[in-house]
Amino acid sequence: MSSKKEVSPVRPELIKDDTQDMALRPRYLKEFLGQKGMKENLSVFISAAKERGDSLDHLFLIGPAGLGKTTMAQVVANELESGFIQTTAPALEKPKDLVGFLTNLKKGDVFFIDEIHSLKPAIEELLYIAMEDYGIDWVVGQGPMARTIRIAIKPFTLVGATTKAGVVSSPLISRFGITCRFSFYELTDLEAIVHRSAKLLNVKIEKDAAMLLAKSSRGTPRVVNQLLKRMRDFAQYAGEVSITSQVVKTGLSRLEIDELGLEKQDREILKIIIERYKGGPVGAETLAISIGESIETLEDYYEPYLIQAGLIQRTPRGRVVTSFGYGHLGLKPNNNEGQLFDE
Ligand code: ADP
Repeated sequence: MSSKKEVSPVRPELIKDDTQDMALRPRYLKEFLGQKGMKENLSVFISAAKERGDSLDHLFLIGPAGLGKTTMAQVVANELESGFIQTTAPALEKPKDLVGFLTNLKKGDVFFIDEIHSLKPAIEELLYIAMEDYGIDWVVGQGPMARTIRIAIKPFTLVGATTKAGVVSSPLISRFGITCRFSFYELTDLEAIVHRSAKLLNVKIEKDAAMLLAKSSRGTPRVVNQLLKRMRDFAQYAGEVSITSQVVKTGLSRLEIDELGLEKQDREILKIIIERYKGGPVGAETLAISIGESIETLEDYYEPYLIQAGLIQRTPRGRVVTSFGYGHLGLKPNNNEGQLFDE
């Protein structure tokens, strides 16, 4: 049974504000490792917009947490040599909160809204006009005297990021000229990120050790950086001058991270689906309650990697553990597992 209060050492939300993480953030496209196709296209769009003296088309970034959406938004602003203004949709409570941001934008600024799937409808409506016509429709006066005035704002680039593209309304999606989908990182890219970060953190790491870290980081740069910092602690504690593969092996086992990069809570999720729900299907809400996490954490952090690694499947009736998932826990699928998968 899972202990609800237990906190995994690599949970992304715990390290969002880590100041050292700021130092590790790539600032330009050439420092941004991986996502090759996306970078090549963005590089074309950015240089074309710069050459014309236009603002870049609005940009929609989609992908699981920790893959570099915020980083990419900042990189785009730096490449455009523009200002960067950042907020999150839940922080925009009233239309005037958005108007405050929009009226202060300078020509060509990059305005980044994270978690854009949770915009309130009234704010989203305002954003449509801002994105399309660089204007704000504002109601002045009340009752019969009320009228709408159009306030002009400076041409800007909206960068919207989401982990849940499926719940973003189609009118909003259609107003983004460029869409980029982040995928989990290749091992070679993660290895390169480890070496780059180690250099910036001024810590030595052996080649095998970097490879091992890359393999255990769920395809996610934020996780690989966090693990690197923990391994630095273990190496320092053990009096090692550099992070060796032995340090990483011991460190990962102390953090209860297995060879697939799964944390204890990931394994707990698999175990609960198997033991309590006969391998599934089980709905996300029920599962979130059973593991003592919010549905957001389950859907944004744990599930994408469990699905990508082939350990669970998402079916219209709920989550199901695959035979690979059973095998990973050293268990055999129950007999009716096959029937649980939808066509
Ligand atoms: P998201 O906004 O998608 O949750 P972030 O942009 O906050 O993710 O990225 C998390 C951290 O991972 C960043 O602080 C940065 O240090 C690192 N990172 C992300 N993408 C890359 C990359 N492509 N190359 C190197 N480091 C990266």
